[in-house]
Amino acid sequence: MTKPVAPQGGSKPADKPWFDPAAPFIRQSSHNNDVAIIGGGIAGASCCHTLNQLGIGTTLFEQNDTLAQGASGNPIGMLEPYVTADNSLSGQFYEAGYQHSSNLVRRLLAEGKDVEAAFCGVLSLPANPRDATRQQAILERLSLAPKVDGATAVQPLDQKSASDVLGLTVPTGGLFYQDAGWVNPPSLCKLLAEQATIQQGIQIARITPLQGSGARLHNPQGSLVGDFGAIIIAGAMETAHFAQTTWMRDYMIALRGQISWFSKNVLGDLNVNCVLSHKGYLTPERAGMHVFGATFDRHANNTDITENDHAANIAQLALAVPDLAARLHPGALGGRAGLRTTTPDHLPMIGPAPDYDAYLAAYPDLDKGRYYARYCSAPYHKDVYVCTGFGARGMIGAPLAASMIASQIAGHKHSLPPLVQEALHPARYIVRAIKRGLLAP
Ligand SMILES: Cc1cc2nc3c(=O)[nH]c(=O)nc-3n(C[C@H](O)[C@H](O)[C@H](O)COP(=O)(O)OP(=O)(O)OC[C@H]3O[C@@H](n4cnc5c(N)ncnc54)[C@H](O)[C@@H]3O)c2cc1C
Repeated sequence: MTKPVAPQGGSKPADKPWFDPAAPFIRQSSHNNDVAIIGGGIAGASCCHTLNQLGIGTTLFEQNDTLAQGASGNPIGMLEPYVTADNSLSGQFYEAGYQHSSNLVRRLLAEGKDVEAAFCGVLSLPANPRDATRQQAILERLSLAPKVDGATAVQPLDQKSASDVLGLTVPTGGLFYQDAGWVNPPSLCKLLAEQATIQQGIQIARITPLQGSGARLHNPQGSLVGDFGAIIIAGAMETAHFAQTTWMRDYMIALRGQISWFSKNVLGDLNVNCVLSHKGYLTPERAGMHVFGATFDRHANNTDITENDHAANIAQLALAVPDLAARLHPGALGGRAGLRTTTPDHLPMIGPAPDYDAYLAAYPDLDKGRYYARYCSAPYHKDVYVCTGFGARGMIGAPLAASMIASQIAGHKHSLPPLVQEALHPARYIVRAIKRGLLAP
């Protein structure tokens, strides 16, 4: 193996050059200038949409025969604000992400587009006493926040009002996010990718750099699929299947989840008026069904539907709406299982693909605390980006993430605070490991 060499990029003061933005995409006359996106879930489709809005063409590759067959294939995804009491970096990202996604869906609905969604409100019940304290802190933080357009609207409800708002009796009061709701992810993916050239049933197995700029894609048989101006890998867990991204395997965890659904007839005259979010969730009727769940399982990475998981979902639902749960039987439920792609710090990986060996060569002594040393700019795999790791929050994370990547490709600044962008940078894991002395070049 050849020894990795620190890239030549000139040196500059150590203002975290390991998180420098990548060089923007340059149009070439020699090949297709589309950005190729690998993965037809909400992450990939959102990348198509934002790039298309900037006037950059996109080609979307999906290995299945239709879009949204992975985690993004659930019939309903909650659009629920993720608010943290302490305004942490993850809270800042997902709160902005929630606003971004709900504005996007509202705009598409206003334009008369065919996206299935409803802003019926989300009732959030505390799952335990600690959660109740957390809700109180959230309420205080939100009530102190400036009342600007798009600020997260929340209303505290006692047990009686919460039950009235939902339409079913619940055991406690909680917080009501009246502007929140749900979306049907496959309809959103389809719409967001409507201007892209879609290549379904094609698996991308290898990415090789082109002379100058851009990259070449190959299929598993080694045949050329095409040359593109830039590549975004949005393949959920399979994002780490490329030579450029193998190192990411150590920082990605698959978390299986199963949802269940039952016919609205089970409820008789009762209605579920809004989304109920507790330890799990229950949705209003869509296509004659109510969806509830979901399980979280670190020790399985298959997507088979099991009666055990249906039973676990019923048991979870019983904590919030026992009367309804008592009417449900595992054998009479429909369901779907998928894998959430998560990371150790629960934040996605969004940005240029770091060249792992070159990082080790460029920043070997970060563990020595030499912050005044002069380091070269971040070494990336040129024109290759990653967009993955949304865990259980892809609907509120992926569209904002896509706007970050599109800004970088177009050479624009993004509005998210720099510290939040650094917290999402894929190289954070390499930098942390070097600083802890865990990696040697
Ligand atoms: C049970 C469950 C419930 C959930 N509920 C919610 C919710 O209520 N709200 C919410 O916000 N989020 C929810 N999530 C999370 C959300 O579904 C995910 O975060 C989101 O769908 C991830 O989107 P993605 O595009 O990253 O991945 P995916 O949707 O999995 O898409 C990745 C795609 O890439 C394709 N691909 C991979 N490699 C290649 C390749 N080499 N070539 C071609 N194609 C490739 C795959 O086939 C796949 O279609 C839930 C998840 C689960 C499992």
